[in-house]
Amino acid sequence: MSSFGKCSQQGVPKKGWTCIGFEDLGESSTQCEMCENQDIRYVHQMQHPEYPDILECGCVCAGKMEEDYTAASRQETESKNLARRRARWLTRKWKV
Ligand SMILES: [Zn+2]
Repeated sequence: MSSFGKCSQQGVPKKGWTCIGFEDLGESSTQCEMCENQDIRYVHQMQHPEYPDILECGCVCAGKMEEDYTAASRQETESKNLARRRARWLTRKWKV
């Protein structure tokens, strides 16, 4: 675990976060706001009752914050499957 970013800051809760949203950016185009050390493509929007901001985090941090890595990674898997289905559909369309 890195010692950079909000992970090491005082006043930022480490646990008890809830994932309120999820987004596939299509490419690694933003940075995880928790560790500020990882480029992320799949953004988990994390909310905490004792923290004023929404943090956009990667899967690993989201899993730790939510204490449910399975749920966080399942969301990514589903999103990837969706993207693959979409890609397949496009390929099929091209061949026609
Ligand atoms: Zn992170």
